[in-house]
Formats: sequence, C-alpha cells, structure tokens
Amino acid sequence: MAKKTHNTPSENHCSFCGRPESQTHMLIAGLNGFICDSCATQAHRIVESNHPAAAPAFHIEQADIPTPQQIKAVLDQYVIGQETAKKVLSVAVYNHYKRLNYSAEHTDADDVEIEKSNIIIVGETGTGKTLLARTIARILQVPFAIADATTLTEAGYVGDDVENVLVRLLQAANYDVAAAQRGIVFIDEIDKIARKSDNPSITRDVSGEGVQQALLKLLEGAVVNVPPKGGRKHPEQEMVAIDTRNILFISGGAFDGIERHIASRIKANVIGFSGTKTREEIERHDMLRYLLPLDLKRYGLIPELVGRFPMLTHLNPLDRDALVRILTEPKNALVKQYTMLFKIDDVALQFDDDALNAIVDTAVEYKLGARGLRSIMEHLMTDYMFTLPERRGTTLRITADDVRRIQVNEA
Ligand code: ADP
Repeated sequence: MAKKTHNTPSENHCSFCGRPESQTHMLIAGLNGFICDSCATQAHRIVESNHPAAAPAFHIEQADIPTPQQIKAVLDQYVIGQETAKKVLSVAVYNHYKRLNYSAEHTDADDVEIEKSNIIIVGETGTGKTLLARTIARILQVPFAIADATTLTEAGYVGDDVENVLVRLLQAANYDVAAAQRGIVFIDEIDKIARKSDNPSITRDVSGEGVQQALLKLLEGAVVNVPPKGGRKHPEQEMVAIDTRNILFISGGAFDGIERHIASRIKANVIGFSGTKTREEIERHDMLRYLLPLDLKRYGLIPELVGRFPMLTHLNPLDRDALVRILTEPKNALVKQYTMLFKIDDVALQFDDDALNAIVDTAVEYKLGARGLRSIMEHLMTDYMFTLPERRGTTLRITADDVRRIQVNEA
C-alpha cells in the first residue's frame, strides 16, 4: 500500500465513502481502490469491536478511581515502611487508570498518547515487593497474577513460555478475557534474567536475554495468543487472544550488587569529590536512593525492556523496628491473627514486648527477614494451639523465654 499525496486532474475517490481526495486528510491507495483516513479509522474501530479479545471500552468513573492518597492509605494498612515506593506506586496506579479512561475516550491519532506506567521495584527478597503488588490488585479489584521470571524460557525451550504469564492472569480472571486485559501481572526475580555479559556476578547464561526479548512482546502492548490451559500439553486447545495494552506490569528483583553500578556512576559524576567513605562503606540502601534506569541496563537488562518500565522505585531493607511493626501493625499482622484465633476459643493471648523482640532476633539471626516471621510464629504457637480448646477461659502470656526455646528448622 502506498500513500497518495498529490492531486491529479482526475481526482481519486475513496472506494468506501466516495469522497474525493481533496476532501480527505489522506487517501491511501490499495491494489484496486482507495480508502480515506476517516473510513480507515472507522474500519479499525469495527475490527476492534469484533475482535474476540476486544475489551468493552474500559471505563470507570473518575470518581470511582481511588486517589493516590487513598491508594497509599490502604497500602499503609498492609505494608510497613517503604514510603517512597508506596508513593510512587500510588501515583503509577492512579495514572494507569486515568490513562485507561482517557484512551477509551480519545481514539484520534492526534490525541496525546499517555504511556503505560509499568513499574520495576528493586529490593531485597522479603521486603514487600509481592505484598505491594498484591495489595494494589486488591484495592483495584482487578485480576492479579504472579510469574517468576526464572521459570520462563524462550518459546521452544524447556520451561514456561512467556505467554503462560497471561494464562495465569486469564485463570485469575476466571477466563473473563476483558477482565484479564486490565489486570496486573507481577513478574518476580526479573534481575535473574539479566544478560550475563554485562554482569559478571550473575552465573546464568545468555538465555536470559532471550527471555527478556520474549517478555518485550507482552510489554509492548501486543495482542498475544495464549493457550487457555497453559503449557504445551494440550496442542488441540483453541488459542485465546489477549490484548496486553492495558495490563499493568509490575516487576520486582533484588538486583544484588546493583549498588556497585550506582556507586561507580555517582563517583563518575562527582569528579573531584574526595569523600572519606569507600564504596563498600556506603550502605546499599543509601545507594538505592540514586537508582536510575541506566543502572538496570548496566546490570544486564536490555534497554528496550528498561524502556518499557517507566516507573522505577526501590524498597529498603527491613530493620528490627520494621520487623516488630510487621508483627503487630498491619491489618492482617501475625499477632492480630493469632490473637483472633485464640479469642475464638475464648483464650486471651498476650505477647510481652520482649517476646516480640525475641521473635525478631530469631528472624534476623537466621537471616529469614520478614518472610521468616510467619514460620517462627508457627513453630512458637503450634504447641499452644494443640491444647487450645482445653485452655478456654484462660489468659496465655508469651514471654521472651518461650520464644528462645523454639528451634527454627528453616534457614
Ligand atoms: P518480596 O516479594 O519482596 O520477596 P514479599 O512481599 O513476598 O517479599 O514479603 C514476604 C512476606 O513478608 C509478606 O507476606 C509479608 O508478610 C512480609 N512483609 C515483607 N515486607 C513487608 C512490609 N514492608 N510490611 C509488611 N509485611 C511485610
């Protein structure tokens, strides 16, 4: 097809609406005819609305979209600390939904295009990346799926095809394609598919880059055909087309050692500065404050992939104070959950402050972080739960000594 731009004495006409070229913005020539810009736009709309994967024009009233402050207030109920990340995510999610409304209403080519705000969260394991993504999905009441980048492979290799990420989302949406198309996908361990060559600390081979390339397809907003049952075991299944344009992708990774890239970049930028701190002395979380997309590229993510994640934020390692707060403060805090479980059996459960400190000490000692709090609690409470019905009407006080007596098997 060629674009016809010049006027000829015998003017060409749109073969659909009959308009002469002089009355169109553009007349596109085909083999046996022409189509004008407005017919082409209309044809596109018809195709879109009849496409099996076409979502009904997505619209939630502006008034129904929680504001960034409302989103953050809910995140605060579940996620301790991590103020910067919570703010960034609240804004990103708010923009995402504004964008959906806007693009449903503004379909003309010359309308401003608001780009999607996919997010990368850099933070050590167990600092709340998944929790943040999950809580956001809960706030927005959209389908949510988690994928582990380390299990993904390029099509044709042993492992999960990248499309299976969407299969999970489709399943989470109860096979409602329209709902899946505005869901949230959390891709964990994105750092593990970094290109090896740029990053000597990663021992994985270059196949990581192949997976990055494959992921790009999803992130670019393409229509992707997915096998609804997943895998390659059911070759007979009919593919479902999923438009990924409006799916919000949140990626997380620890990016071990990324502080070295940040440090060397910052040092390069402050030539002449002779600080007393060596690079090693500078704390990782101090460095993470200066994280830029460039650092992710140096770490081994391909530029195209980094470009598809315009929002970048980081989580801080959780200190002892944060761990104690995690035990007690979130809406579903472990202490609250156990207190309720015991109350149902008419037992008043109390934790000494020192007992909570001892639980945190154990988590820190075994390098279990926040993730370990639950297993420590379970070890601690199992014996009491075993005899719970017999304790009706009593008060049970947990002391630091009770905590120190337990053995943690997982490390
Ligand atoms: P990540 O995805 O960063 O590896 P998760 O979000 O899966 O970590 O966190 C593991 C568990 O630790 C969560 O289920 C949650 O109970 C707890 N947790 C971690 N970080 C926080 C936090 N900042 N606030 C509250 N709980 C947290």
